[in-house]
Amino acid sequence: MSDEEMAENSKNDSQDPENIFDYEKLLNRAWDSLPDSVKEHSRFSVPNVDALAEGNTTVVRNFADIAGILNRKPSHLLSYLLKELGTAGVLEGRRVVFKGRVPPRQIGQKIESYTKTFVLCSECQRPDTHIVKEGRTQILQCEACGGHRPIKVKKGARKTELNPVREGAEVDVLITDIGKQGDGVAKAGGFTIFVAGVAKGARVKIKIDRVQGRIAFARKVMDI
Ligand SMILES: [Zn+2]
Repeated sequence: MSDEEMAENSKNDSQDPENIFDYEKLLNRAWDSLPDSVKEHSRFSVPNVDALAEGNTTVVRNFADIAGILNRKPSHLLSYLLKELGTAGVLEGRRVVFKGRVPPRQIGQKIESYTKTFVLCSECQRPDTHIVKEGRTQILQCEACGGHRPIKVKKGARKTELNPVREGAEVDVLITDIGKQGDGVAKAGGFTIFVAGVAKGARVKIKIDRVQGRIAFARKVMDI
C-alpha cells in the first residue's frame, strides 16, 4: 500500500468512522454481497401464520401462500394439520377454515413440524425438495444437494385411529371369500384379513390377532 493510499484510507476513516466501525453495517454489507441463492436458503424459515377467530372457527388467511412457500400441495399440508390438531377443517380458496378456536401459535408449531418432516433436507437444511415413493416408503429427495431420507411420520394416537386394522382392534367386516385353508377372507383398510370359522357372505365383528404387512389374522367376535 502506498503512502498516498494509506493517507486516503485514514482520511476516509476519520471522515466517516461510523461507516467503518459499525458492526451491523458491515454485516449488512457482507450480506448484500452474497448471491441471492445463498441468502434465500439461509433465510428460509417457516412462514408466519396469519390466523384469526371468526365465530366458532379459526381462519388461516395465508394458507395457500404457506403451502406455496413450502412447495407442497395445500391438501397435503391440511391433512397433516387436521390429524395433528385433532380438528376438522376445509380449504376455502386461499384460506383454511378450522372448526373451533385453534391458537395460531399451535398451528405455527404444527406447520413447523410438517416442514421438518416433509420439506427440509436433513443434509443441507434447504427446502428445495420433493417427495418420491419407493414402494410403500416415502423418500424426501433434495434437489440442492442430492441428499435423500425416508419420511418418518411419528405415530400418534390419531394416526392409529385412522387405521382400524391393528392388533387387538375390533372391526366389522363382510366375508367376501374363503381362502385355501378354509378361512374366511375379508378386506378392510387396504388389508386382507383371514378369519377362522366363518362362512362366505357373513357379516361379522372380528378381533385382529396378528398383522403382517398388509395381511391380518383375526377371529370372530360375533355376527352382526
Ligand atoms: Zn440437501
